[in-house]
Amino acid sequence: MICFDEGRLLAYLDGQLSPRESREVGAHLAACPRCRDVLAGLAAAREEVGRLLSPYHSAALNLPVPRPPAWPRAAYAGAPKTGKGVVSWTENKKNPPATPKKPPKSSSK
Ligand SMILES: [Zn+2]
Repeated sequence: MICFDEGRLLAYLDGQLSPRESREVGAHLAACPRCRDVLAGLAAAREEVGRLLSPYHSAALNLPVPRPPAWPRAAYAGAPKTGKGVVSWTENKKNPPATPKKPPKSSSK
């Protein structure tokens, strides 16, 4: 007796097989305890995953649409403390550097 693989059994579980294939798998399951066990395991795993993910799924529906990352700010945050170039670059986008901020003191260690 040739057993079906898990993919085929999963498709059977999901009702994605053709009527003929579904009958074949059903007939095999009636005669094969091993495949019945595999199918029961797949069904239990699917149920468990669905149960674990359901709060996240409903929460995900209420999430706002994510905005693109503010990468210039992120670049500034990741820049060294003397990241003067990044600051002036982002500030120049909106206003010319009329009153430049105090340059950071370059202190020795
Ligand atoms: Zn089997």
